[in-house]
Order: sequence, then C-alpha cells, then structure tokens
Amino acid sequence: MTDQTPVPAASTLETLDLGYAPAPEATDHVRIRDHYGLLIGGKWVDPASGKGFKTVNPATEVVLAEVAEAGEEDVDLAVKAARAAYDKLWSKTSGTQRAKYLFRVARVLQERAREFAVLETIDGGKPIKESRDVDLPLAAAHFFYYAGWADKLDYAFPGRSPRPLGVAAQVIPWNFPLLMAAWKLAPALAAGNTVVLKPAETTPLTALLLGQVLEQAELPPGVVNILTGAGATGAALVAHPDVDKVAFTGSTEVGKAIQRTLAGSGTRLTLELGGKAANIVFDDAPIDQAIEGIVNGIYFNQGHVCCAGSRLLVQESIAEPLIAKLKRRMATLRVGDPLDKNTDVGAINSRQQLERIEELVASGEAEGAELYQSPCDLPARGFWFRPTVFTGVAQSHRIAQEEIFGPVLSVLTFRTPAEAVEKANNTPYGLSAGVWTDKGSRILDLASRLRAGVVWANTFNRFDPTSPFGGYKESGFGREGGLHGLAPYLDLS
Ligand code: NDP
Repeated sequence: MTDQTPVPAASTLETLDLGYAPAPEATDHVRIRDHYGLLIGGKWVDPASGKGFKTVNPATEVVLAEVAEAGEEDVDLAVKAARAAYDKLWSKTSGTQRAKYLFRVARVLQERAREFAVLETIDGGKPIKESRDVDLPLAAAHFFYYAGWADKLDYAFPGRSPRPLGVAAQVIPWNFPLLMAAWKLAPALAAGNTVVLKPAETTPLTALLLGQVLEQAELPPGVVNILTGAGATGAALVAHPDVDKVAFTGSTEVGKAIQRTLAGSGTRLTLELGGKAANIVFDDAPIDQAIEGIVNGIYFNQGHVCCAGSRLLVQESIAEPLIAKLKRRMATLRVGDPLDKNTDVGAINSRQQLERIEELVASGEAEGAELYQSPCDLPARGFWFRPTVFTGVAQSHRIAQEEIFGPVLSVLTFRTPAEAVEKANNTPYGLSAGVWTDKGSRILDLASRLRAGVVWANTFNRFDPTSPFGGYKESGFGREGGLHGLAPYLDLS
C-alpha cells in the first residue's frame, strides 16, 4: 500500500520549526551556600584577612556565592596542616588504607554525580551534557584508577622502593574544575602525599563541594586542604618553602613564572600548560566522521581545552568541500543555556576570557583571515561567543600561533604529509594532535614525527585515567594519568 500522507511543499518544510523544546536540568538538588571558607586541617575557616570574592554564573552574570580569599597567612597555615598530617598520619598510613579512602571518594562522586554536574555547569558555563557525561565520570574514574595503585606501588616501580615526597601544592584552572582536581589529588594521595589545592578564582564551587565529599569519606584532617583565591594565592602557595612538590595546570605565562620561582629550590615541579593542536585531515579520511571530530576538537567545552584541535590542517584537494560541510554542521550547533540538555556550546567562562577571545579574533580579521560564525542567536545576558572558523589563515597569523582558548578554529591547508608535519610542529606548543586518514601506516608515521604529547587517530579529545597526558616545548613537562602520572609524586631514587 502506498503512503497517502501529503508531503509538505518545500516552502512549508522551510518554515517548520524543527528545533528542540527547552529541556533544562533541574537545579533544586544543589545547595549553594552564601559564604564559603577555606578547608584547613579538616576545618572550614575564614581567611585571616576576612577578605572574599564573588563567583558568578557566566551564563547569567548572577552572583552565586562569596568565597574566601586566602592570603599568605592562610597559605602558611594550610601548608603546616598538610605537613602535620603527613608526618603524623598519612606517611604512616598503609597503601591499602589510602586506597580505601580513594575508593570511597570515587563512589561518593558517582552517587552525587548529578549534584556535581549541575554545580559545575552553573559555576563554569559548560553544557550540562558535558559535565554530566565527561567531567563527572572521568573524575570518579581517576579516583578509582589511582585507588587501585595505592597498595601496589612496589609492583608499579619494581626495585625502586617508591616513597612519597611530602606536601604537594596543586594549582588548577577553570576549564575542567572538578576533573583537574581529580587529576591532581588522586595520584598525589595514592602515592602517600598530603595536598594543598588551589582552585581557579572563577570556578571554586565544585572543589569546595569535593572538600565536603572528602569529609564524607572520612579522609583524615589536613590530608587535603583547599585554599580559594586569585593568582596571588597560587603564587604564595607555590613559593612556600615547606612545599615538596608543585603541580600546575594553566597558562604558559604563569607556568614560566612558577618555574622561575622554583629554580634552584629543589622542589619537584610538573607543568601542564597551553596548546595549539593541529587536527590533520587527509584526503582519504572518512569525511563525515572527521567533521564530527573537528567540531568536537574545537567546540567541546567552548574551546576552553588545552589540547583543543584549534588548528585544522586539511589536505588542499578536499579543503573546499570539507569547509562547506563544516560550516553546515556549525550552523546546527545549539548555543545557549548550559543547563539545557540539548545545548552543544555553553557560556564563555568569564568576561576576561571573552575579551581575550574577542581581541584575538579581531587580530585574525585585521591580519586578513576570512571569518565565518555560526548564525545562532545569543542570550542577552552572560558571556557568549559564536562558534567561529577562520579560513585563509597564514602560519604567521596570531590566530595560528597563539592559544585562543575559545570556540575559534583556524584552517590551514597542506599538500604532502611532510608539509603537514612541518606546519603542525610550527608553534611554540606541543600538547596534542589529531590525524584523520584511512592508512594505518600513515598514522604511525605521523605520530612518530609530530612533536605532541598525545596524538589521536581518527578521533579527538579522548581521555582515560590509564593513559598519560602532557606536553613538549611550551606545553610543559611531566605527565598526568597512568603510571606516568604517579611517578612525579614519588621519590624513586
Ligand atoms: P592562569 O594560568 O592565570 O590560571 C591557572 C591557575 O593558576 C588559576 O588557579 C590561577 O588563579 C592560578 N594563578 C594565576 N597566577 C598565578 C601565579 N602567579 N602563581 C601561581 N598560580 C597562579 O590562566 P588564566 O585563567 O589567566 O587564563 C589565561 C590563558 O591561559 C587562557 O586564555 C588560556 O589560553 C590559558 N589557560 C590554559 C589552561 C590549560 O589547561 N592549559 C587552563 C587555563 C588557562 P586564578 O584563577 O585565581 O587567577
């Protein structure tokens, strides 16, 4: 039987609204306090100065809470609390016991995942589907993974009698606030160190909630101390003379400053800094799959990703159709309320970051690159930037060299694999890269010639706690994840 349903005329189809109805995630299970103190020695305390700062929802500009600003005095108290907990307790706690606490934290994170995901989205602006499906599962997975190593350090490093270092100072950024806390805390604690953690100024709330989870898991007082504050708090913490190990994730500029501070001090240091990754697409690549990988590579988390595929290197013969497809795909991205389950691109994390993105995009136009932005409506309040692509980019342009840390893609072309490698390696950074091709031999060849800590093949932005992550050149040194991420927290000499 033939289908008798009338087919709408093309003009009717064009006027049909095929958009999604709003699907906001509920927020009534999240309790945000008016004021937050510092977690020092197992107690929530006010800062010595009595000073605080406000954290806002970047999607609405509504103030969420007043958060304590730790000064030098508080830093000193926190380091002392971490030292006391290390000397008296944690360094004597067996690996099996340390594992028990880490497993508990992982399980509580899973149980309270929805609460954490909503809070992460409200405080940082990332889409709920990312905080729910990426940040939270990965954060729990890191605690599970390193819990597994805590009582097996002798097997992890046979013949090396691994010993903890002491007190670790950890400074983390605002792009994956909870996940970065998990990346830092889990290996440090598994290895037997105590910690003073400083979350970023614009996204302190999930780290503070994690502090409550550590209490719920009955982690002994002082093993983890949490100091909120701005850059000055981080600077005071890393410079404290009684810190044995510093782990930093953030900008290359601040990473260099920390390196200068610690030079000659003997304090161990790992730096995970910026990137300008090349996502390289060959003419034999599965194009539709590559388009998804390009979109995920640069528009995931509004491009606030150190390993974002922010430079697309496309083989000249397919550049035109690929860019046409990419623009069509960009037009379907839903930009807006981060709490809406259908949102693909959320809010820019802060006004300051938005201004940085706008300045670099203006430089791209001034230097002669061609701009395309997805034709979406932006909310009236909050910090927003349209998914953007630049074509006609020269290697010398700032948008091809500097980390934009926003939803902005720069497209360059190449003819041969050798040219692709040369262009890919032509930045001060070396954190990650992607290769899209049908040929396994080409993937292996390129992976060995790209100066990048991570090379993804026919995929992008994949993370796993068992897999080491880190950079070359100005992207930093040291690795996080896997056994490689455990070693920097141990004395293996
Ligand atoms: P920062 O490097 O300033 O911030 C990272 C962390 O370091 C934050 O907790 C910050 O505190 C703290 N911090 C700032 N100054 C110092 C200091 N002198 N000593 C110790 N700690 C310090 O990055 P921004 O937030 O300023 O972002 C600037 C640019 O950095 C972005 O546009 C992006 O390009 C890049 N970036 C890269 C990241 C990555 O993962 N590779 C992450 C974040 C940024 P506070 O937040 O309070 O300033």
